[in-house]
Amino acid sequence: MSSSLFDVALIRKDFPILHQEVNGSPLVYFDNGATSQKPQQVIDAMVKYYSTYNANIHRGVHHLSQVATSAYEQAREEVRAFLNARKTEEIIFTRGTTEGINLVAQSWGRNYLKPGDEIVVTAMEHHANIVPWQLVCEQTGAILKVIPMDQNGELILEEAEKLIGLRTRMVSIIHVSNALGTINPVRQILEMARKSGAMTLIDGAQAVPHFSVDVQELDCDFYVFSAHKILGPTGVGILYGKQQLLDQLPPWQGGGDMIRTVTFEKTTYNDSPLKFEAGTPNISGVIVMAEGIRYWNALDHAAVQEHEQHLLTYATGRLKEINGLKIIGEAREKVAVISFIIEGLHPYDIGFILDKKGIALRTGHHCAQPVMEFFGIPGTLRASFSFYNTTTEIDHMVDALLVAQRMLQ
Ligand code: PLP
Repeated sequence: MSSSLFDVALIRKDFPILHQEVNGSPLVYFDNGATSQKPQQVIDAMVKYYSTYNANIHRGVHHLSQVATSAYEQAREEVRAFLNARKTEEIIFTRGTTEGINLVAQSWGRNYLKPGDEIVVTAMEHHANIVPWQLVCEQTGAILKVIPMDQNGELILEEAEKLIGLRTRMVSIIHVSNALGTINPVRQILEMARKSGAMTLIDGAQAVPHFSVDVQELDCDFYVFSAHKILGPTGVGILYGKQQLLDQLPPWQGGGDMIRTVTFEKTTYNDSPLKFEAGTPNISGVIVMAEGIRYWNALDHAAVQEHEQHLLTYATGRLKEINGLKIIGEAREKVAVISFIIEGLHPYDIGFILDKKGIALRTGHHCAQPVMEFFGIPGTLRASFSFYNTTTEIDHMVDALLVAQRMLQ
């Protein structure tokens, strides 16, 4: 049974992929942290685009190009409203979270950082919010600093206070940890950054699928996420940036659409956001992403949160019934993501047996190797839930884990 407020059975009807058997058992999809499944409305939007108005945008006078351009720019407005940004000019379409962070690191960091300047990240970053900064540190002589966490997987704010200071130029932090589920106190850390005059970026890849985000209320300089984690297609995402900052930043990549005039002597650039969207973008992806956001907007978000928190509490309780199972990351504020290990067993072996029973869990380091190193483990199993999951599925997972444990011991 699921929580009463939320009609999961009805919701699940919208997700065709969920209604299949894998290896002879009904699919249980608990890898939503890696990518979410897509409702029929999103799939239909993709088919409609390619079967009725596929065309290149911003450059055609013909009908199809105008329809595609208008849908593409309407998607920008949809995302603006989704994040409550002030203007559509503040919404840049990217390939995803990873590209958004690289864009800021290269366009801002490479041009403005000096030797000895400091970039602050947290101990629980995804590699996407570590490596782009390491690259720019190598290029500029800037230094990467890390806010530590404790054994529960919570950031140590007193240490953050000490770390963020006059040399800090950028504080770039993960909103919700993909490896641990921790919801970070981003407001407090942003406040520290503002006091020291540093820029701020939030990696919202794991936040937007679970709760509403308001960039004006957060008052961050940049916010990034990927469409595929919130009901949309892969290969497309968002960089939000405050307009006055985007106006000052140089382009990152050169090519079509990002220019105003080109001669062999000199090129002048378009205004943001087109200044940062060189070349033909992922037109269908952008348009279909907006359909995913529309689907999300139509949900009762209070009920979604209540349902997901119910799944988290229920699964945590059930998993703790298993001898030798240890949950990695027990922060007070968590989304419905549970990382765990079972004493003496390799996560991969367990994941393999679960797959034979149709259960999709993530195994490994979850692109967060420093987190695994901190806990002294090679990897975990991760169950990451979405609003379309049920407690019955959790029961299947627990049964399968008990079988795996018996088989492997
Ligand atoms: N940041 C976090 C917290 C993530 O969970 C992910 C993906 O798992 C990323 C960044 C990278 O997202 P993408 O691969 O869509 O660019």
